[in-house]
Amino acid sequence: MKEFEKNIRKAEPYVPGEQPQRKVIKLNTNENPYPPAPGVAKVLKEMDTDKMRLYPDPAVGKLVKELADFYGVNENQVFVGVGSDDVLAMCFLTFFNSEKPILFPDLTYSFYKVWAELFHIPYECPKLDEDFRIKREDYYKENGGVIFPNPNAPTSIFEDLAFVEDILTHNQDVVVIVDEAYVDFAGKSAMELLERYENLIVVQTFSKARSMAGMRIGYAIGSPLLIEYLNNAKYSFNSYTMSIPAIDCGVEAVKDKAYFEETVQKIIDTREWAKEELSKLGFWFPDSKANFIFATHPEYNAKELFEALKAHDIYVRYFGGARTKEYLRITIGTREEMEELFAFLGEYMQR
Ligand SMILES: *Cc1c(COP(=O)(O)O)cnc(C)c1O
Repeated sequence: MKEFEKNIRKAEPYVPGEQPQRKVIKLNTNENPYPPAPGVAKVLKEMDTDKMRLYPDPAVGKLVKELADFYGVNENQVFVGVGSDDVLAMCFLTFFNSEKPILFPDLTYSFYKVWAELFHIPYECPKLDEDFRIKREDYYKENGGVIFPNPNAPTSIFEDLAFVEDILTHNQDVVVIVDEAYVDFAGKSAMELLERYENLIVVQTFSKARSMAGMRIGYAIGSPLLIEYLNNAKYSFNSYTMSIPAIDCGVEAVKDKAYFEETVQKIIDTREWAKEELSKLGFWFPDSKANFIFATHPEYNAKELFEALKAHDIYVRYFGGARTKEYLRITIGTREEMEELFAFLGEYMQR
């Protein structure tokens, strides 16, 4: 190592799923197979590019107001950023500043560990149980903060509000972050608990249910106190995180509630049908409440299956790792895309 490298901050980066630059059946990064709300295309077509001379509104007032109205909270309870990865990174930086370890599951969104390492935050990862469920008692001990996704990824399992509240009641002296990237496919948001828990932060994204992964929009909803701390950190780092097109498109997407609900329902319907098809083929999987299924087959090696699918331009996600190496994470695509997946699997397995 060169002398000047010694004091450089080292990072072991998160490895995102592949983004092949040609058309494939893409079931590997939990994107939405449907386009964004029609109003989004209209906004882009009619965009007045002259306004790009100017900086965007640093407070992102328009989008904050739209989200506040949508969720029935005050504007000072909303924080927005460049995808929920940006929002979550800011949350780690702001809220996890204790010498005690933060807690998150051993099998979960792998970015958590990356941020913890990057920011030198101590952490512990309690093991999910045999059925890939979070064991609530593991989160009763002293800690520097708690974060978990609900539904969890890549397991797809959703825990009800009573479970989330139990973790909150046992963790009133630290910040608890619930990452709800997939909650629209699942059930009730933990936002309902905000009135009673000032230390709760709920993080969501436009990347999954709102079909806008490429626009990079995420947000956190919490108490005015926590949101103020987040904003102070943001304005100490980068005042203008979101671009003008992202802000305007985000507003349009939130306005079209009917389109949002219709798209989400289509994905849920396809998911429920896909579960039946996977079962018929002999796969086992936890009962998914997300827009993906985490599946294993007793007779087929997951890595080989992953490679065979890829050779046929069907991309799913394979993680490896001790507890997950026999699993594939399959994003729910359109009905047609899933039919192609099952046609291939049916043929492959007869061989
Ligand atoms: C997809 C995902 C995110 C990040 O999404 P963004 O595109 O950065 O908004 C965060 N958490 C989990 C669990 C996810 O699956």
